[in-house]
Amino acid sequence: MLTQNLGYPRIGGQRQLKKASEQFWAGKINATDLHEVAQKIREENWQTQLEAGIDLIPCNDFSYYDQTLDTSILLGAVPQRYEAVQAQSDDELDLYFAMARGYQKNGLDITAMEMTKWLDTNYHYIVPEFKADQEFRMSGEKIFNEFKIAKQTLGQKAKPVILGPVSYLLLGKEKEEGFERADLIKNLVPVYIEIFNRLAALGAKWIQLDEPTLALDLTKKEKEAFEYAYRSIAEQVTGVKLLVATYFEALLDNTQLAVNLSVQALHIDLVRAPEQLDEVLALIPDQLILSLGVVDGRNVWKNDYEKSLSLINKAVEKLGADRVILAPSCSLLHSPIDLELETEIDPEIRNWMAFAKQKLHEVKELKQIFEGNNALLEANKAALASRRASQKVHKQVVKDRVSSITDADSTRTSAFPIRQEIQRERFNLPAFPTTTIGSFPQTDDIRQLRAKFKKGDLTIEQYEKSIEAATIESIRWQEEIGLDVLVHGEFERNDMVEYFGEQLDGFLFTKNGWVQSYGSRCVKPPVIYGDISRPKDMTVRWSTFAAAQTDKPMKGMLTGPVTILQWSFVRDDQPRDVTTNQIALAIHDEVLALEKANIGIIQIDEAAIREGLPLRKSKRAHYLAWAVRAFRITASGVQDRTQIHTHMCYSEFNDIIEHIAAMDADVITIETSRSQMELLQAFAHFEYPNEIGPGVYDIHSPRVPTTEEMTSLLKKAAGLLPAQNLWVNPDCGLKTRKWPETKAALENMVAAAQQAREEI
Ligand code: GLN
Ligand code: ZN
Repeated sequence: MLTQNLGYPRIGGQRQLKKASEQFWAGKINATDLHEVAQKIREENWQTQLEAGIDLIPCNDFSYYDQTLDTSILLGAVPQRYEAVQAQSDDELDLYFAMARGYQKNGLDITAMEMTKWLDTNYHYIVPEFKADQEFRMSGEKIFNEFKIAKQTLGQKAKPVILGPVSYLLLGKEKEEGFERADLIKNLVPVYIEIFNRLAALGAKWIQLDEPTLALDLTKKEKEAFEYAYRSIAEQVTGVKLLVATYFEALLDNTQLAVNLSVQALHIDLVRAPEQLDEVLALIPDQLILSLGVVDGRNVWKNDYEKSLSLINKAVEKLGADRVILAPSCSLLHSPIDLELETEIDPEIRNWMAFAKQKLHEVKELKQIFEGNNALLEANKAALASRRASQKVHKQVVKDRVSSITDADSTRTSAFPIRQEIQRERFNLPAFPTTTIGSFPQTDDIRQLRAKFKKGDLTIEQYEKSIEAATIESIRWQEEIGLDVLVHGEFERNDMVEYFGEQLDGFLFTKNGWVQSYGSRCVKPPVIYGDISRPKDMTVRWSTFAAAQTDKPMKGMLTGPVTILQWSFVRDDQPRDVTTNQIALAIHDEVLALEKANIGIIQIDEAAIREGLPLRKSKRAHYLAWAVRAFRITASGVQDRTQIHTHMCYSEFNDIIEHIAAMDADVITIETSRSQMELLQAFAHFEYPNEIGPGVYDIHSPRVPTTEEMTSLLKKAAGLLPAQNLWVNPDCGLKTRKWPETKAALENMVAAAQQAREEI
């Protein structure tokens, strides 16, 4: 029985790659320095995997920015606009980073390629761009160079990894009309054949092709593309074994297709979808080797060895041990790197956890246990038993409260039209009321303030005095420019999830648990380990302080349950919806506390509700039902006169509009300006009944929009939805912006609302 790994984090244990890339971009180090840092990380990763006893160790899983971008370079799929960069510089890193980040140098101004989320992860990839007559040719040397060096260190264990041809196409985008990207498979496959034969000639024994789209809903044409690609490759590639890796979902209706691809091994994700093993085993042809993804590559918990063993035993019974490979469920790219560095986590809880490095050991230990090492199994059982019984995890009152939630707990007292009337009377706002999404610029001063307080360099009095001053200043200024519904600015918050996680029971924070989000950007998600409760008020202090400074309505500002869940590492010992309901009850209590403190308008951000959507259409209705219900739990129980807002980013609402409407927020603010209100079509078509604030300017850029362009967007919106339901606001929170552009943009925005009041 072999063991393998599909990919290892490449940021480095101390985020060396992040630091080096940013220095390189700032011109502080040169390409040679950057390459050196990268080589060191790769060597360390290989060493770690060797020491863990892994048999097939990935190479070319490293990337300076993103592996899909690497693939585009390898295949010569460089959009035409970058030719000018190539003409100017023959350093391949210049072209590479131009595609990733855009290029503004020597009179050129070229946009970056689009970036989007990698399936259902928080990792973002660079989206390949295709034209109708797209050609491909073997261009990059990276995969060969990395393999050559890997082979020196790893010998036969070195396994090059590449994104498979069909997923490469399907995860890309047509940039012209008149063709489907799956049609390009005929142009693409010859290049893959050339690459594989060259790797074989260099001595590769195995090549891993990632085909995550095999676990998605596929059209007939896309299925045919799979058949065609792998038949052609099998016919023309010799001397190397191919392994197709799927993950994040079950193969379901693609099982037949997947097991019959002409390759030597197939990897399936048995963490996300353990139930697929039966069907795969029932259909598997003789000789195909099955790689069992039994160790969770997406979370931070110790593997349940007993559970994994039962899957392994089942597979071995049918296939024999030599046709089984043990592996993590997916690339470990999505795991933090090393638990050993987390010296401050409660040792009891730490004993239930595993990061990337520990997961490699789990793979090997599973093999040892399979071969009869009982002591390892017993130790694992003991750790899991302690987690199951721990009072740190299990709070009966929380569980009881969740299980007694009724439909009444997720329903507002009156229907929206009644609430609307009462709220109109109460707040007496003008038409096209203006507001912002919550945060104001987080200047260096503000960040330093929080950092100093955290370090103990400031007393709580000193700290709060400064935050109060910043809050008052922002309120005065909001009043001056004439905004209608004010916010306190969120100066006391580091991050919209962390701020709440730190105050709720059931969360812990790591020191170094970084995971790559995109390029050099890493995130450090909180860990939800136990039943969640709210020991005391979380936001009332700052909201009431702010409200007392003004006669205008002050919005209370909360993060919603699905967003808190989505942006954390979650428990794997209970269903996600149960955890979400626990958070929902905690936020619900905070909403009531704010209402009691006379905060009349409360915003509950659900930035990530769309992001949690399951990859398979058949699973979406279930998710949407509990996600929407969780939001409604937070928002219910208040009086009709209390106005509930929600905010969503990264919007694309067409397919989920009825569920957005079912959230029944009194006001929703969304991101629409970049699409010129196009995203509003879904709301118009649905005849969305509640109030809505389509963002009138893009906060992701420092550019200050003119009054006229925002007025014209408002006119467009008023053509789609009842004008009396429209609010005026930016696309999202302003914390990443600087003050000068924020002030200028919001002044213009208020003027645009005034114009709209006169002209619409
Ligand atoms: N209230 C948050 C802010 O203004 C919302 C940000 C978001 O949705 N991403 O920063
Ligand atoms: Zn947003």
